[in-house]
Amino acid sequence: MNRDADLLDRRLGGLYGLLIGDALGVPYEFNEPECLPSLESLGYQPPAGFKRTYPNIAPGTWSDDGAQALCLLESLLKHQGRLDLEDFAQSLWAWYQQGHMAVDRLVFDVGIQSAQSLQLLSDGHPASQCGGTHERSNGNGSLMRVLPLVLLHRGSDTELIERAHQQSLVTHAHARSQMCCALYCLWAWYELQRTAEPWATAVQTLETYYATKPLLKDHLHEYQQCIQPFALKSLNRSDCTGTGYVVDSLHSARWACQSGDFLDVIRRAISLGHDTDTTACIAGGIAGIRCGLSRLPKDLVSGLRGQEEWLLSLCEGIREAFL
Ligand SMILES: [Mg+2]
Repeated sequence: MNRDADLLDRRLGGLYGLLIGDALGVPYEFNEPECLPSLESLGYQPPAGFKRTYPNIAPGTWSDDGAQALCLLESLLKHQGRLDLEDFAQSLWAWYQQGHMAVDRLVFDVGIQSAQSLQLLSDGHPASQCGGTHERSNGNGSLMRVLPLVLLHRGSDTELIERAHQQSLVTHAHARSQMCCALYCLWAWYELQRTAEPWATAVQTLETYYATKPLLKDHLHEYQQCIQPFALKSLNRSDCTGTGYVVDSLHSARWACQSGDFLDVIRRAISLGHDTDTTACIAGGIAGIRCGLSRLPKDLVSGLRGQEEWLLSLCEGIREAFL
């Protein structure tokens, strides 16, 4: 495979990775880790006797994470890779109201903060002013959907950071959420580029960026408080909780990604319990970029629902953008 084909394969791998992670995590959401089946038995279909969190949702179905990520991807493709915040926000509204990008158009697992922000949008507020700004508004709802910015990226690190901040504004406008989105995007971007030490390089790039932008002193503060103390050490399981708090999600995904095997990354993310679909979605995006669509487990790819309905045409859009 030449470099361009390999890059394309890994862009598609990131997209499938996040959707597979989300879908695989859905049946286990809200459980304490000790209530989950054994690591080796975690799949789309849980082992007999385990009660699925959403009994009416068929195994292999992505949730709000996947649908919102596809809304972002669709909007980016429509604007030749440019982020049009109003268009993206309207796409999120179409998901919330009509099941746009949701498998079978079934909307479930909607975050409270996202619902409140989308209500503001429908009341006529500009997309950039709909996101929660309180410190308690730092759920993982903007982090879980941000990866398509990386998958279609062509520009500089600075542009990627700024777009990551911006896409968060629609639902999660606090500097901490924006910072986590930017760090995840840089991490994924360096994974895609096969940069040495992708996480450490992302941390370095973001720290330098904030340090040179006096207007972003809140972002720098959030980085120093939430990320810097853990930035350059390898995480232990006991450092991670798998909750829906954006910083926990990022740390939990990084812990899961310490494994080199795609399925093992997803299973480790789920094994933390709680917000299993989103932790696995965030980790799955990274793991998918690392291995590429062609090397993802075939049964997980074929078992993912909603491909004919939404996904295949978007994959074609990515191919056309890079060939
Ligand atoms: Mg979800």
